[in-house]
Amino acid sequence: MTSFKHENVEDLYELLEKLGSGHFGEVKRCKEKSTGICYAGKFIKTRKCKGSRMGLDREQVEREVFILQQLEHPNIMKLHDVFASKSEMVLILELIRGGELFDFIAEKEALSEEEAIEFIQQILKGVAYMHSRHIAHLDLKPENIMLLEKAVPNPKIKLIDFGLAQKIEDGAVFKSLCGTPQYIAPEVINYEPLGPSTDMWSVGVITYILLSGLSPFQGETDQETLSNVVSGNYEFDDRYFKETTYMAKDFIQQLLLKDPRDRMTAVECLIHAWIKPLNRKQAVNRSRSSINMKNFKKFNARRKWKLSYNMVSACNRLCRMRLLCNPIKTEEDLRQCESDQEDEKTKPVTLLRRRLSSLS
Ligand code: ATP
Repeated sequence: MTSFKHENVEDLYELLEKLGSGHFGEVKRCKEKSTGICYAGKFIKTRKCKGSRMGLDREQVEREVFILQQLEHPNIMKLHDVFASKSEMVLILELIRGGELFDFIAEKEALSEEEAIEFIQQILKGVAYMHSRHIAHLDLKPENIMLLEKAVPNPKIKLIDFGLAQKIEDGAVFKSLCGTPQYIAPEVINYEPLGPSTDMWSVGVITYILLSGLSPFQGETDQETLSNVVSGNYEFDDRYFKETTYMAKDFIQQLLLKDPRDRMTAVECLIHAWIKPLNRKQAVNRSRSSINMKNFKKFNARRKWKLSYNMVSACNRLCRMRLLCNPIKTEEDLRQCESDQEDEKTKPVTLLRRRLSSLS
């Protein structure tokens, strides 16, 4: 089991280019000096004191580490090493080079349901394994489904970002209001107990989008989206689902159920006839049906645009907040809030985005 190292990460790893950024820090490619192997270093700013508005509580990062340490599966990103200093924690993770699954699919001319199922099956295998260990991811969405490599015959899915994941033992009650409106289950919004079935709702939403390029509960605003999720009403509009098989719709219908107890588990999904056909006719139907690629490409372009728009607008809000709250800072003030200072220099948007995605 990986234990926290207290030395400087740069003594053991060469830090290379930035790969991405999240709410509380950046992810950079880094090369282990002793082996020459490349990893992804997730640099997370931690709160210096309880009152600080910048950074993440140490316990939250420790929980992410604790969870990753228990997961060893081909479809789940692995943790290699962890570093902790006063103001930062660094997770050295398996390097995932293939980008997001949705971006990979959007570059294609066409994709049959059968090909889409190859990916969904891998997602389900990762989720089933996680759930068998009583771990719920609670933030399954396209941004957290990546490919290990993309220029290979059968790209391998890797689930990432266990920042909201929870170990929920049988009988225990866990509630939270976190997540992303389009993908969260009704029980999250209603502040009811969450569990593995909460992830299964998200799998239903992701599958719906993958096949049609439509988001089942998307409203004009986040508020409207949340109310659509709570009402649980959605439909298979013929204009977008004309190529979709009956089995695919049945698969989604058995996941987008308001009562978590009624949803299929990941293990049940893996033996659903759409994933594992019972006869030749079902298998042939899947290979003849295709996903709505034209609309999927549009969905993905809008998704990417929104992600960058959220980043910029949160950045602007933070700048305005800083101007209102701290018109002038003396050098002494600056020395006293060293941690916040560092955060703002490296990644001003981090704190706000997590709040935006959970509540706006
Ligand atoms: P969020 O803001 O979505 O909660 P986060 O702060 O928890 O994110 P991650 O989602 O783990 O951070 O990582 C942010 C981004 O960094 C990812 O979207 C991805 O582009 C990139 N990334 C994360 N882990 C890896 C990895 N192991 N290999 C390559 N890139 C990665």
